Amino acid sequence: MSSSVLAKRIQTLSPSATLAVDAVVKKLEREGTKILNLSLGEPDFKTPENIQNAAVTAMREGYTHYTQTAGIPELRTVISEKFRKENSIDYDPSEIVVGVGSKQLLYHAMMALCGKDDEVLVPTPTWSTYVEQIRLAEATPVCIQLQPPFRLRAQDIEKHITPRTKAIILNSPSNPTGAVIGKEELQKIGDLAVKHNFWIIADEIYEKLLYGGVHVSVASLSDAIRARTITINGFSKSYAMTGWRIGYAGGPKEVITAMVNLQSQTTSNTSSIAQYAAVEAITGDQKSLGIMKQEFEKRREYLLDEFSRIPNLKVVEPDGAFYLFIHIEASLHTGMKT
Ligand code: PLP
Repeated sequence: MSSSVLAKRIQTLSPSATLAVDAVVKKLEREGTKILNLSLGEPDFKTPENIQNAAVTAMREGYTHYTQTAGIPELRTVISEKFRKENSIDYDPSEIVVGVGSKQLLYHAMMALCGKDDEVLVPTPTWSTYVEQIRLAEATPVCIQLQPPFRLRAQDIEKHITPRTKAIILNSPSNPTGAVIGKEELQKIGDLAVKHNFWIIADEIYEKLLYGGVHVSVASLSDAIRARTITINGFSKSYAMTGWRIGYAGGPKEVITAMVNLQSQTTSNTSSIAQYAAVEAITGDQKSLGIMKQEFEKRREYLLDEFSRIPNLKVVEPDGAFYLFIHIEASLHTGMKT
């Protein structure tokens, strides 16, 4: 018998390494150390002013109470329109849930769909949260190890499918590699999910940070794929709203209802104020989004150029998101300090 007072699922849980590094950085900053914080995937811009103003107005007008668990109808309606216009997916507002960041919705999707005896495919390198959330749901993560340039192909997946495969995580553009899965390959992956009867959890949080090309949502590729996909997105990255804790998911009603029910027993609605701000984020002026993207693009070019001059470091050119995935193995053998 284990001597720990903690439940088994918590004993084996790894805390978020990025949040831990960020906590150390914040402590050093409080102590007066100047430090360049590259730990969290967080835009360093302020939330655009029109979004801040919408939040202030909501507060002043008294929208500071509980809302519907799934989110205020105004927000779910504009998200539904956004999905239709930008992602070519038809989700009725009743097929949409708004939650405490996309992280919570990823967890709730995992809890709603997967459990003991299920396997979940995770293309790797990956954002470590997926693996921990799969474990919390008592399912088994099955990593699909990708090689540079880390673009997932259907053929990489096929050999990992078993009768226990319940779902796959797709994150395009990807954290941490910035890799994007092209439309043709997405179609093949979606068709595999249909053929082998597993779910797709599509984390599209970086959809607006693409350097060339257009974003394709896997759920838009056929009705059969849509019927087994949960599309997850949020405001943190595109609108510099990480602290507001607001994200959303669209999917078949049965699963979304289960996620709403779970949310009703955990956090209830996310912040009412953040929800009104999010309506403005979607429907208001998108100018700041373009400005932030341009700046990320400039930094990407600069860093790619600088890193290319450092011997023994290999950098994969990211197609999207705001990460650089640097291969340091060769430098380890030279004894170079990294
Ligand atoms: N998905 C990916 C791939 C991320 O990198 C992150 C944050 O780093 C999230 C989801 C979580 O975002 P949110 O702030 O919406 O919870």
